[in-house]
Amino acid sequence: MKILVLNCGSSSIKYKLINMANKEVMATGVVEKIGLKGSFLKHKRSDGTKAQLEGEILEHQVGIEYILGVLLSEKYGSIKDLEEIDAVGHRVVHGGEAFNSSVFITDEVIAKMEECIDLAPLHNPPNLKGIYAMQELLPNVPQVGVFDTAFHQTMPDYSYMYAIPYSLYEKYSIRRYGFHGTSHRYVSKRACDILGVDYTTQKIITCHMGNGASITAIKNGKSMDTSMGFTPLEGLIMGTRSGDLDIGAVNYIMDRENIGTRSANTLFNKHSGLLGISGVSSDSREIEDAAYKNNNKRALLAIEMFNYRVKKYIGSYIAAMGGIDILVFTGGIGENSDQHREDILKDMEYLGLTIDKAKNDGMRGKEMVISKPESKVKVMVVPTDEELMIAQDTLNIVSSMKK
Ligand code: ADP
Repeated sequence: MKILVLNCGSSSIKYKLINMANKEVMATGVVEKIGLKGSFLKHKRSDGTKAQLEGEILEHQVGIEYILGVLLSEKYGSIKDLEEIDAVGHRVVHGGEAFNSSVFITDEVIAKMEECIDLAPLHNPPNLKGIYAMQELLPNVPQVGVFDTAFHQTMPDYSYMYAIPYSLYEKYSIRRYGFHGTSHRYVSKRACDILGVDYTTQKIITCHMGNGASITAIKNGKSMDTSMGFTPLEGLIMGTRSGDLDIGAVNYIMDRENIGTRSANTLFNKHSGLLGISGVSSDSREIEDAAYKNNNKRALLAIEMFNYRVKKYIGSYIAAMGGIDILVFTGGIGENSDQHREDILKDMEYLGLTIDKAKNDGMRGKEMVISKPESKVKVMVVPTDEELMIAQDTLNIVSSMKK
């Protein structure tokens, strides 16, 4: 079965065509600058053939027409007929409380997704545009929605509620939802597959550390806590997001700087985090270079703060789960930075967690156990693959319907 995975953002569409028979990525690419000047499509076929097409791509539907066009093209394409696409899997950011798993998309499901727009006004509308466009362009092909929030719907109420008046939860659905769920689910399951252990009996902590970063406690196969909250701003320090912050400080800054909610939102989402502290960059490679090669003190502080926050969350999730069996690192930083992993894992021997330095050092972007064989807690690096997880869910849902 060939599945097209779409991730529609506000001005971009990422796509992958995956042949689920052998998990081959037949083609991958991105349409960028939708609705802006200089829009283009960048495409790569499995044999390495690349294409870059420029054009006026004013809407998502046009972007998807470009994608289907390049997939069919004689020179760069991977299929001869659109009928070869058996199903489409869409990444959808927010499923609110309506979706606790991936779903086959029907008009009823779309109506529910539209109700979730309020919760993710920047993300859900472009996700929906991709769905509407596909209904128009490939009306007979089944479509599946895979939500970033769904995996975390198993969190117990004492974990997802905020201690604010309960009426605000009832009125506006203010609670913690969590994000990156597809990634946390993928890497935690994959870790258990690699270790050959039963997913439903393990206590797992997954650290997704990329530009966005979040950490999840998974007990017996279920997310029981995660660091992102009502929005993806809560929790860990990120490239440009502050993570946890005293609301009192937010109010004080807004008063003193005389800024409204919009500017405050930009301040804490776009100018904070690693970028705000270091003043160097939001990119951890540049910050590591500044800290270790140029002795930049603020860059070093940003790294120390980032790692300390991750460590604190790991500790709290171990307490919440009553132990830990597996700790997984993923995301650009988690997969690639041995320095971050080493610093986070320092002084955890008391937990029965010992790292094999030789395995951790220089290890990038590969599936690997980096703890010592005798370590009670298995520590692993598992590169995330949200698209494969979306394709897998799509395959499962579409196959079960055919039975
Ligand atoms: P996104 O959340 O946008 O998907 P990624 O998961 O790609 O982000 O992560 C981006 C982060 O990963 C950046 O901070 C980048 O510097 C970091 N990263 C990527 N490769 C390396 C590397 N080799 N060493 C350290 N950090 C890296």
